[in-house]
Amino acid sequence: MSEKPVSERKCVICGKPQTEQYKPFCSKRCADVDLNRWFSGGYAIPAVEEDEPDDEAPPGRT
Ligand SMILES: [Zn+2]
Repeated sequence: MSEKPVSERKCVICGKPQTEQYKPFCSKRCADVDLNRWFSGGYAIPAVEEDEPDDEAPPGRT
């Protein structure tokens, strides 16, 4: 009856649902990404955002 609306908090980095452990991020990985931004000098240097590995990653080596 008193059902509270579920506030979907998304990861500030990738937009995935946050986890209680790593909020406001979804995982430690995204938390590290944010930290790296700060350590890089106040967002002066754009952090290298690595995409998550796809199911089929084409081999870069020939
Ligand atoms: Zn994330």
